[in-house]
Amino acid sequence: MTHNAPSSLCVRERPKPPSLADELELERARRDALEQRSGLGSWYWWPAEGRFEVTPGMRRLYGRLDPMDRIEDLLVSVHPDDCTRLRSARAWLRDGSEYSMLFRVATNCGTWRTLHEQTEIEFDHTGKPFRVLGIAEDVSERLAMEDRIGFLTHRDSLTGLLQLHSFREQLATSLARSARIQAHSALMSVKLIGLKRINDGLGHAVGDRVLAAVADRMTACVRSADLLGQGPTHAKHPIGRSGSDAFLVCLSDLRRPEDSARVAERMTSALTEPVVIDGHQLCLSSHIGIAHFPDNGEDADTLMRHAEAALQDARQHAPNSFSFFTDAMNALSQDRLQLEADLREALSCDQLRLVYQSKVDFLMRRIVGAEALLRWQHPTRGMVSPAVVIPVAEETGLIVPIGAWAIRTACAQLCAWRDAGLPESQVSVNLSAPSFADAQLIPIIDAALADFAIAPGQLCIEVTESTLMGDSHQVLDVLLALKARGVSLSVDDFGTGYSSLSYLKRLPLDELKIDRSFIMDLPADGHGAAITAAIIGLSRVLNYDVVAEGVENSDQANFLVAHGCTNMQGFMFSRPVDADEMGRFLADPGRLFGIDHRPGMGTRLDI
Ligand code: C2E
Ligand code: MG
Ligand code: MG
Repeated sequence: MTHNAPSSLCVRERPKPPSLADELELERARRDALEQRSGLGSWYWWPAEGRFEVTPGMRRLYGRLDPMDRIEDLLVSVHPDDCTRLRSARAWLRDGSEYSMLFRVATNCGTWRTLHEQTEIEFDHTGKPFRVLGIAEDVSERLAMEDRIGFLTHRDSLTGLLQLHSFREQLATSLARSARIQAHSALMSVKLIGLKRINDGLGHAVGDRVLAAVADRMTACVRSADLLGQGPTHAKHPIGRSGSDAFLVCLSDLRRPEDSARVAERMTSALTEPVVIDGHQLCLSSHIGIAHFPDNGEDADTLMRHAEAALQDARQHAPNSFSFFTDAMNALSQDRLQLEADLREALSCDQLRLVYQSKVDFLMRRIVGAEALLRWQHPTRGMVSPAVVIPVAEETGLIVPIGAWAIRTACAQLCAWRDAGLPESQVSVNLSAPSFADAQLIPIIDAALADFAIAPGQLCIEVTESTLMGDSHQVLDVLLALKARGVSLSVDDFGTGYSSLSYLKRLPLDELKIDRSFIMDLPADGHGAAITAAIIGLSRVLNYDVVAEGVENSDQANFLVAHGCTNMQGFMFSRPVDADEMGRFLADPGRLFGIDHRPGMGTRLDI
């Protein structure tokens, strides 16, 4: 029997159990790898022996290669402002107090990084600190992110001013402090004039740069002591942005209330200095309303409301005026608030009406159309004029449903006149700028035309020049869509808006309505006569119809005819009348021409 060589002959050494040193080394390698991955660093300190060890991760965080044999060595790269704090915290470790703190250390590239370091103490059986473990983490990025979030939470990203909600909070804090120390403060509400013109003419990017420059100038006009309240740094600034071109400024601790006027003067003149951007000298002006604490209000909301009322008053005056709040303004603004609330109800409670004013061909003695004009039959105030209603409706956004209602009501009326056997006519409806931003406008017009079987050419939409100059792309799209349907388009109050005529070439228009202000003093007023003649000439060249608004007497009418404008609208023919009376004019247009032509005269129903 052959025996294979016993396997035991091939002697294999059994692995030696790892020494304590090996295990420690392995442990260290694991820890270093972990620290490298996590961006942490740590140190160990044995206070009794004075022994101190740092990990490679800790060296990385402190940006150090030199020997670090003593805990004091750690302080070398710490920011001088943080050294004392850190030194005392570390001294307390000997007494068994752990710490958790933020401090800055220098990086190799000369900047500072913020570390968060916390300690854990192991005690011996006598209760004395035996070993301390310090773990540090680089939190610079996290803090920068929190800083950015803080900025975005409180500040307007374009101007760096406070957002309205933060401003209100800080104003409340500042007023509470003023009340405690019995100081006077003031709140200014500032509205810029001219930003829209810059946005429209040179684009929003330029407008944004102007705003940023304006914000810097305004900030320079207020004392740094006007910085408001406590809380995070980002939440402190004396100026808040309350709208696209509107600001609120808090002036705290005024020596005398009148000092607010000095700041308003300073701010007004700073804002009128031209802003130079890409070689353009851009000029702005402003209106300012001022309310005082505690005389005009003791809380932030009241003061804000009253500064706003004062601003509304200032806006009635020339640019660069400012107004102080008075109790009379309070009554006015209360009244205005009530009107807003009432107008919200007016639509649903059937208080709105359309009245109609004939548009005539003076030579042919016929009606060429009728303009639908809004009236509000208020339950207590009686008939409220559009001069009051339209601004309220525009500011509250109610103008959009009112516009839709007017279109539908006008189409329903055309249908009713047709059903009554009256000759077909055209009705013009006035639409304000916000209606053109409403995606529902075209569907609403389509539905009204279809539901009442109205030919698109029987509806004319009147737009003012300023609407056309606003966001021209949006308005242009709507006008093109209307034109494609055959709806007529008219430019109202022509000559009063921006003087740029370039848009006339681009827009699909049918009619220009010469504003009443040019017709008013014809033929004696040389300027009015020249402008009227020029608009008539322009319409002829561009192949638009032209209508003169506000014709009140035959001298005006004769001047217009002599210059080639035969379409007219005005009290000479008829004031705006209700639908029944308009129906009677449609049935017998001669009535518009046959009676006393002097203004205000006539037997018709005047509304
Ligand atoms: P507009 O569209 O230019 O309307 C003409 C205004 O001039 C009407 O005033 C009319 O009554 C008045 N008027 C007409 N002929 C004469 C005249 O011979 N002499 C004088 N002194 N005035 C004359 P109303 O109805 O007070 O409307 C004022 C403005 O309110 C309108 O001016 C229009 O811009 C706006 N508006 C009226 N209704 C609406 C509407 O439904 N929607 C919108 N968005 N605006 C409307
Ligand atoms: Mg009009
Ligand atoms: Mg007009």
